[in-house]
Amino acid sequence: MRIDILTLFPEMFSSPFNESIIDRARKNGLLEINTINIRDFALDKHRQVDDYPYGGGSGMVMKADVVSRAIKSVKRAPTRVIYLSPQGKRLHQDTVVRLSQAEHLILLCGHYEGIDERIMPLVDEEISIGDYVLTGGELGAMVLVDAVARLIPGVLGDDNSSQEESFTAGLLEYPQYTRPRVFEGREVPEVLLSGHHAQIRRWRKKLSLLRTLLKRPDLLLDREYDKEERQLLEEILFAGEEGCFEKE
Ligand code: SAM
Repeated sequence: MRIDILTLFPEMFSSPFNESIIDRARKNGLLEINTINIRDFALDKHRQVDDYPYGGGSGMVMKADVVSRAIKSVKRAPTRVIYLSPQGKRLHQDTVVRLSQAEHLILLCGHYEGIDERIMPLVDEEISIGDYVLTGGELGAMVLVDAVARLIPGVLGDDNSSQEESFTAGLLEYPQYTRPRVFEGREVPEVLLSGHHAQIRRWRKKLSLLRTLLKRPDLLLDREYDKEERQLLEEILFAGEEGCFEKE
């Protein structure tokens, strides 16, 4: 996959994309990330990228002609132009999965009061990373790239790990444990030491349901439940946490 990021602050991306899993994906040729400085498309001698808003008001607005040239410099079919914007659809794992199947993404980062509305015909979708306002789209672009990149086949050491985690099956992930077996008097749940794969799978499913019920009950509302999940939910509602954990 190729991702072109249009930004006024390309330097912001150097550290996050040169570390860990994203860095490895780039080196392995699974992911190409280019940062393009929008200012390079300002043609006047001051390289002006913003101007005062028509109608007055505070702040500056990024100029349509400059941003349009920047988009067109990297746009080619098939591609999706995404404007990171607080007015966009809130980023959700379903969107991340869909975008991870794209060949080419262009991420447009706004700044100041945003971008002249007349660039919108060049934009395929607006995505927000949450209901709050950031100073620029760069952090949003980093979040999006990180979430998308890890779903590209081969990027994670084990592709199964992205299939079991939170949101993928409409539930939060079960709790995880690693060595030591006892930490500050708290033991790893016995079932995880049993080597009994069917029981471990069932226990994890049950804990996923319990966690989702306690932390994000909204996720349970529009969900189809299979027979096992119904049974596990009944067990949870009947026995609560005691039905999931060994007594201390
Ligand atoms: N005046 C705009 C408004 O009220 O909708 C907000 C502009 S914001 C200060 C500047 C830029 O930050 C936006 O153009 C956008 O690219 C980015 N941004 C701000 N909040 C964001 C969010 N929640 N998700 C994604 N991008 C965001």
